[in-house]
Amino acid sequence: MATRHNWTKEEILEIYNKPLMELLYEAATVHRKNHDPNTVQVSTLLSIKTGGCPEDCGYCPQAARYHTNVEGNDLMSVNQVKAQALRAKESGSSRVCMGAAWRNVKDGEEFDSVLEMVRTINKLDMEVCCTLGMITENQAQRLAEAGLYAYNHNLDSSEEYYKEVISTRGYQDRLDTIGNVRKTNVTVCSGGIIGMGESVDDRAGMLVALSTLSPQPESVPINALVPVEGTPMEEQEPVSIWEMVRMVATARIVMPETQVRLSAGRTQMSREGQAMCFFAGANSIFAGDKLLTTPNPDVNEDMELFKSLGLNPQKAFEKKEQPKSVSAEESKYQNLGEKPKWSRPGHTIERNVEAQQKSKAKA
Ligand code: SF4
Repeated sequence: MATRHNWTKEEILEIYNKPLMELLYEAATVHRKNHDPNTVQVSTLLSIKTGGCPEDCGYCPQAARYHTNVEGNDLMSVNQVKAQALRAKESGSSRVCMGAAWRNVKDGEEFDSVLEMVRTINKLDMEVCCTLGMITENQAQRLAEAGLYAYNHNLDSSEEYYKEVISTRGYQDRLDTIGNVRKTNVTVCSGGIIGMGESVDDRAGMLVALSTLSPQPESVPINALVPVEGTPMEEQEPVSIWEMVRMVATARIVMPETQVRLSAGRTQMSREGQAMCFFAGANSIFAGDKLLTTPNPDVNEDMELFKSLGLNPQKAFEKKEQPKSVSAEESKYQNLGEKPKWSRPGHTIERNVEAQQKSKAKA
């Protein structure tokens, strides 16, 4: 069956709410038709610049305005990144995803450094992904030229619920950045978080937004919120494994060719729960003991789980060929010194304001 780009919320809700055994069977069938069910892609997430972010994302301990235990760091050096990438490769990762706590990319020295990191990791024959906030078309082209394989930019939730989570940027900014990445050869990684207090309708709304993109994202991370003390969402109840399995299975059915990525929240899941997610169509994970700033299962634990389930890590560039890295000197796209105007809706989100006030009181 050809991939559909016209899923409606009603159709997606109908899938999400099916009796679980039927949902699992359907998702596993779609999965087998489109992927090897015994192969799982493994990425290592590396925080190359931690904390001090000006945004107000209600789930994020890296937002400067909340008082959390996250220690901020300046941008890592290219050599530090290379050393970490080599470690990740030795432990079975085929992809390194570099995250920087920025609102958007700014042309200049730091971005030039990130471009060098991309070239360096690509030369290690690993897939390189970046998550750096909003980017312009020229910045996306420069990343592509450096050899970037994927760009991550999550939609987080439905357009309606996004307004309850973040007030410092709009949903359209997210879609525009994804559109800028799509103008290049770089693949798109975009997903969201469940457990932020959103309704099942919102979850379906997010899947509509993702599945109606054409082409659909090559990678869709499904995160379960890890509530962090000091953030506005510190008291959210963890989502149940059934909700996670339903979300993974529904994503698999509506986006058959996508790699559905089990992301944050894996430490709260049993091995059996994770196995059920793989059966439901999840076929990529983040490895390493930290996911940017929140805990993640140990690499050895993951490899043991893979062994007991008979799963194999996917080799690099199995889905798409390795991009070439153009050197900085030969680059066709130059630093334009752009100052794009990304939106700032600035509406009030009560729980974000409260968390900020508590943080000020602690300071
Ligand atoms: S999620 Fe990203 S943009 Fe939002 S506060 Fe955290 S680091 Fe900043």
